[in-house]
Amino acid sequence: MAETATLEKQTDPKNKVSSLDALVIGAGVAGLYELYQLRGQGLNVKAFDAASGVGGTWYWNRYPGAKFDSESYIYQYLFSEELYKGWSWSERFPGQPEIERWMNYVADKLDLRKDIQFNTTITSAHFNETTGRWIVTTDSGETIDTQFLIGCTGMLSAPLSSMFPGQDTFKGRIFHTARWPREPIDFTGKRVGVIGIGATGIQVIQTIADKVGHMKVFVRTPQYIIPMQNPKYSEADIKAYKDRFEYLAKRLPTTFSGFEYDFENGAWADLTPQQRLDTLERIWDDGSLQLWLASFSEMFFDEQVSEEVSEFVRRKMRARLKDPKLCDLLIPTDYGFGTHRVPLETNYLEVYHRPNVEAVSVKDNPIKEVTPEGLKLADGTVHEFDVIIMATGFDAGSGALTRIDIRGREGRALKEDWGRDIRTAMGMQVHGYPNLFMTGAPLAPSAALCNMTTCLQQQTEWIADCIKHVRSTNATVIEASKEFEDAWVEHHDSIANATIVTKTNSWYMGSNVEGKPRRLLSYIGGVGQYRQRCKDVADKGYAGFIMQ
Ligand code: NAP
Repeated sequence: MAETATLEKQTDPKNKVSSLDALVIGAGVAGLYELYQLRGQGLNVKAFDAASGVGGTWYWNRYPGAKFDSESYIYQYLFSEELYKGWSWSERFPGQPEIERWMNYVADKLDLRKDIQFNTTITSAHFNETTGRWIVTTDSGETIDTQFLIGCTGMLSAPLSSMFPGQDTFKGRIFHTARWPREPIDFTGKRVGVIGIGATGIQVIQTIADKVGHMKVFVRTPQYIIPMQNPKYSEADIKAYKDRFEYLAKRLPTTFSGFEYDFENGAWADLTPQQRLDTLERIWDDGSLQLWLASFSEMFFDEQVSEEVSEFVRRKMRARLKDPKLCDLLIPTDYGFGTHRVPLETNYLEVYHRPNVEAVSVKDNPIKEVTPEGLKLADGTVHEFDVIIMATGFDAGSGALTRIDIRGREGRALKEDWGRDIRTAMGMQVHGYPNLFMTGAPLAPSAALCNMTTCLQQQTEWIADCIKHVRSTNATVIEASKEFEDAWVEHHDSIANATIVTKTNSWYMGSNVEGKPRRLLSYIGGVGQYRQRCKDVADKGYAGFIMQ
């Protein structure tokens, strides 16, 4: 009996304190590659993920219609030609199941699973100033003592799922899109309410409209959209993109947004109105994010250009919507095209012509609460449902880290620091939190304005190189200086504030979360420029970072 008790005590995770050189939080695009690189350096490293499998975003967002808005052939790791060429995509913009399979292919090919602990949430991380190490705890009560802590937690991974009073009282089923169940949901004959028409809501709405009994879409802010062109890939297409591997590996990290295309259509001012229109039409027909991320950069700075491009898109939308009331409800007029994320779509607008679909404006009559029957609006109207889908977005950029109790020097809390002002050094460190690195965090392009794999590869490589550098010296601790962080924030703000992006409310500005400090989350100086600046810092022996 006593022996059993001793054994239980020893095997109880609560009593285990393990030691690591590096702990990676997250097993998505960034976490997998960070783990691979640090393991390659000979570090004792382990990744932890709350999910039961790899994939991060592509594990959690399994809602109907979830798919890429980046071309599949560029949403890939480019550090290994073998890895790149070993996977073949079925189409230009594949769906979540295929993407999750690809992430599993990566994990298997790089033999990463043995160093990942799944079903484990990191709950706290406290820096010990005496040892210069982090004490990390998990939801299963484990304690890990680690020198380096790397948050590969994703910029869109903290879902806004508790938004309305009374959610627990709903008699039907209520889902946030980023916590979608694995088993298929049968919508047949069901009354479905959808809240949110961001990139996620649009994908859900267009996918389930013909499967539900009746659907009401609650519309607060209309969206500019671009119709997706999504051809299937033939063997010849696959060979053609694989043959371009070397070119893509060089090209993607240097463009404005980490996509293949870039702003290379000449200056707006140098073109005649007809030439501008021809260019916009040609790019529109590509059916990708090119119109937004690689047509005319002037649209981000110049109100007049913004208005002309916005009107071009509005005309396209008007031509598809039969009902003037739908035009009023679904076509944006009070902010500029591209000043927040532009979704790709397939027959999304046509959904609203279906007899079983209704758009409900909640701009002036907001959703007040969830009742047992459905959604109650401010004027007292109750809309009854069997299923409510919350495509309500995320506490982006900062939320994944502030939901962990992270304490740096002198017990300072990241949640409190970022609750006052979201500051980082190149989006990869925060002054006061030594040996803590992060990817997809605020003030880097990977916070929003990037093809995620391009930027996450660059950041994880920079972090791995930095750790290698620290270990090659006598230092044990590295921390961004306050002066360096201040200078980065100033540089970030100076570029951001020269654009009109900062005028539009969305998760880009943190305005979708009450009380969140307002600042453009993503660095908007371009992926190429950001990469060069990071490289310059490293080349100068990590100038601006203090090593002890
Ligand atoms: P989102 O863009 O933040 O959209 C949230 C939606 O919920 C908005 O329409 C918002 O309206 C609405 N909403 C929130 N609270 C509401 C309330 N109380 N009442 C009524 N409406 C409310 O979130 P998301 O659609 O999940 O997209 C987030 C990001 O994920 C995207 O921008 C994109 O970067 C990424 N994403 C990528 C893909 C892809 O690559 N294929 C797909 C999906 C998502 P307001 O605008 O009025 O606040």
